[in-house]
Amino acid sequence: MTSDLVVGIDLGTTNSSIAVIRRGLPEVLEGGDDGLVPSCVGLDSEGRIVVGSPARNQAVLFPDRTVLSIKRKMGSDEIVRLGETDYTPERISSYILGELVSRARATLRRDISRAIITVPAYFNDAQRKATRKAGELAGLKVERILNEPTAASLAYESDSSEASKILVYDLGGGTFDVSVVSIEQGVVEVLATAGNNHLGGDDFDALIVERLNLYLDEETKDDSHRSDRTVQARLRHAAEAAKKKLSTAPFAVIEEDNLKGSGRAPLNLSYELRRSDFEDDIQELLQGSLDEVTRSLNDAQVRAGDLGRVLLVGGSTRIPLVSRLLQERLGMAPHGEVDPDRCVALGAAIQAGMEAGEDVGSVLVDITPYTFGIRTRGDLDGLLSFHHYTPIIPRNSKLPVTKSDVFFSITPDQESAQVEVFQGEDPDTRNNTRIGGFRFDGLNKNENAYEDGIVVSYSLNVDGILDISARERVTGKQISGRIEDALAARPDDNVLELDLEDGPDQATADVAGELLLERVKAVLEKAPAEDLAEIKRLMKALESAVQRGDDEKADQVAGELSEILFFIE
Ligand code: ADP
Ligand code: MG
Repeated sequence: MTSDLVVGIDLGTTNSSIAVIRRGLPEVLEGGDDGLVPSCVGLDSEGRIVVGSPARNQAVLFPDRTVLSIKRKMGSDEIVRLGETDYTPERISSYILGELVSRARATLRRDISRAIITVPAYFNDAQRKATRKAGELAGLKVERILNEPTAASLAYESDSSEASKILVYDLGGGTFDVSVVSIEQGVVEVLATAGNNHLGGDDFDALIVERLNLYLDEETKDDSHRSDRTVQARLRHAAEAAKKKLSTAPFAVIEEDNLKGSGRAPLNLSYELRRSDFEDDIQELLQGSLDEVTRSLNDAQVRAGDLGRVLLVGGSTRIPLVSRLLQERLGMAPHGEVDPDRCVALGAAIQAGMEAGEDVGSVLVDITPYTFGIRTRGDLDGLLSFHHYTPIIPRNSKLPVTKSDVFFSITPDQESAQVEVFQGEDPDTRNNTRIGGFRFDGLNKNENAYEDGIVVSYSLNVDGILDISARERVTGKQISGRIEDALAARPDDNVLELDLEDGPDQATADVAGELLLERVKAVLEKAPAEDLAEIKRLMKALESAVQRGDDEKADQVAGELSEILFFIE
């Protein structure tokens, strides 16, 4: 057996993973459910140590027999009790490392005895020593303790020779760390770190669980479910699954039958969670993380504009709101294409390969260099416009990717909607490239259909084929189309028309313009006398612009009208 192989291990608070260089390329050894092993250790009913998912699954049911988030205790002399036995944090961590290594041995069919293990950049000497000790207890020779943001930067930049400053935003299950690093020729220096040791996906799950509990309080007129551990365990599980679903879809349905044990009336839960509600729930926590981002930049004395890249690390950065808020704050689109919950392990493997003098290739992923979105009505420079661009697939997304969002007709009695597909980054669709479009006719005209909206879904594959579908939620009516060369479309190319529906090609602005006029008419009596003349003038102008097909003018007038309308309604 050869023994020169050095593995990279991300020993995380919530999940851990292990990677190696194989055939010159870094690779995470998928062992568990999705390659990650929950950093969780427990005793099963027979008193045997279990590690990973089985331990995680019993955590809420048997808290006395389960240890979570041991990483927080590393470097302290706190003892944890499992059943009848006391364990040091190092010992518990060593079980997690042992599990990873035995999976890797099974996959690679060779012995593994040397490792690089990552730790947060802020870990002090005692915490680093404890991590090293955990490795030794697992029978490993720990070649090096590596900072997590350093590893993440290597996963992205190991092959670039240019000097650059990088911001690493790492939002995991229970911790948030942000670091500013500088990298040059594969050598990384951490300039500053900040964060919050108690912020992460677990908090988001808890907010969803609380929603579900409130709903059950209301449904059952009782709160006994709150003290029922089995119920709470299932709700937590369901909440996390729903949260993940919301990272790509605008709705998630949570369905749990027979929530209560036998002997009682069955308690069934069916709850639909909207992404927008979830985003409202977590907004404040994420804003807090942005303050830490600013703090780390200040400490490193780096301006946002001087950053070469912003990297997304940690499973919770898959939540689209995270990228949106970061882009708003820093003025650049963050990168998350190297799986955020694997890139630390990948980077550790790269470091191991570099130290072994190997020629290590960088992580290869296909990404979309552009954003794909849809034309909607919305705010443009403070005015309502019909040329508002709503992104659906953000740039830098790893391919293949499927994302969806929900849209609403402007009024309940609207019979058709225009789905116009754009590529580009500008908030105004007129500055982007229109690559296709179709009209969704025969919309249901009842109030529910209007409120439930239309789910528009984009799927982009590595060959640049973009599949688009629009589905009216109430009726399930769906139309779809395909753009063959979405990545190649340039401003000069002919616009592809998806031939889905005949009939006159009426732009959203026309329909919307008419609808706006109807809305104005409806509130005309309520309008204050001093506004009346102005409203009437604008109505005339809008009517004639719509008739002439002068989109530009219609848009401008509609914006002005909407503003006045806003005050009257
Ligand atoms: P660690 O804190 O150990 O570094 P990870 O980086 O693996 O943990 O992050 C784990 C967290 O990421 C969990 O809270 C998990 O629910 C969350 N997560 C994983 N995938 C997604 C997703 N698609 N959308 C939202 N959250 C996710
Ligand atoms: Mg992590």
